[in-house]
Amino acid sequence: MMIVMSPGASDDEVAAVRSRLEATGVHVLVMPGELTTAIGAIGDPEGVRELGLEGMPGVDRVVPISRPYKLASSELAHHEPTRFEVAGRLVGGNETFCLIAGPCTVETRAQTLAVAEAVRAGGASMLRGGAFKPRTSPFAFKGLGLEALAVLAEAREATGLPIVTELLDAQHAEAVAAVADVIQIGARNMQNYALLEIAGQLGKPVLLKRGLSSTVEELLMAADYVLKEGNERVMLCERGIRTFETATRFTLDLSAIPWLKLHTHLPVIVDPSHASGDRRLVGPLSRAAAAVGADGLIVEVHQDPEAALCDGPQALYAADFRDYANDVAAHATLLGKRLA
Ligand code: PEP
Ligand code: MN
Repeated sequence: MMIVMSPGASDDEVAAVRSRLEATGVHVLVMPGELTTAIGAIGDPEGVRELGLEGMPGVDRVVPISRPYKLASSELAHHEPTRFEVAGRLVGGNETFCLIAGPCTVETRAQTLAVAEAVRAGGASMLRGGAFKPRTSPFAFKGLGLEALAVLAEAREATGLPIVTELLDAQHAEAVAAVADVIQIGARNMQNYALLEIAGQLGKPVLLKRGLSSTVEELLMAADYVLKEGNERVMLCERGIRTFETATRFTLDLSAIPWLKLHTHLPVIVDPSHASGDRRLVGPLSRAAAAVGADGLIVEVHQDPEAALCDGPQALYAADFRDYANDVAAHATLLGKRLA
């Protein structure tokens, strides 16, 4: 931490800050400047933050030097990008590109098995499908729950595709972990810290979606909650954020992808479906995501989107999926990545 004193701060005020810091055991370095004095506090940034030095006489501001996210940071021990396998499919590591596809929601057994087969045939790496759905209105279809988990297990059996499904509530942790190969934490739960810790303890890879109005730093601190439980298999997902723009459902923050690739060792995937809310934009945004360095995509697909119970307008037609996947694979190749 760096404590920057006001230009008029007295020697006594500098000394008071110094002794306050020294009392906590951190190493203190006083650097008098032409106008202001800066005081470096080396060690235990959290402890220094808690001192509330901003309130001391003569202090102008307290500036963190190290990043607020720790385990997710590329500054720390990890110099290599994190890579891990999900049922034989490599995620991360800058050589492979994962394509997670499937329905927004498990609606029926037939619908799910049909979409699963279409995305498998088209070259998807994993199958997505919601059993427990976070819906804005409590009167909307909230998913088939445990019944949907059984359908997902059958789809995995039939296609060999690993399953990505959302854990919405701690009470379903065991049931979801029994079926999921990857546990999704939805955008609305990104800051549900108790749920993040549970997800970290389930022993399965976690797909952590960025909150609707969360900064990328907050996303990385949320990832720290999962990582600190000893679970290193975390992938981050940019899924669009709230902005003043209403033409699209959310605004896909494309710059978040190269920013995250610089600041974290974790794989970064992109959800162009929820970001845009419009299937016509899903292809272009997917190409863009691959071109700026994403490690993969998660997209919604339905064989009859007009009849979908949730998110139909953004679902790709299952019949178009193969062409879509080929297009994505070609763009991933631009950055030297192969479809996993
Ligand atoms: C989803 O992927 O099913 C979903 C609900 O997305 P998000 O949490 O990003 O809104
Ligand atoms: Mn959806």
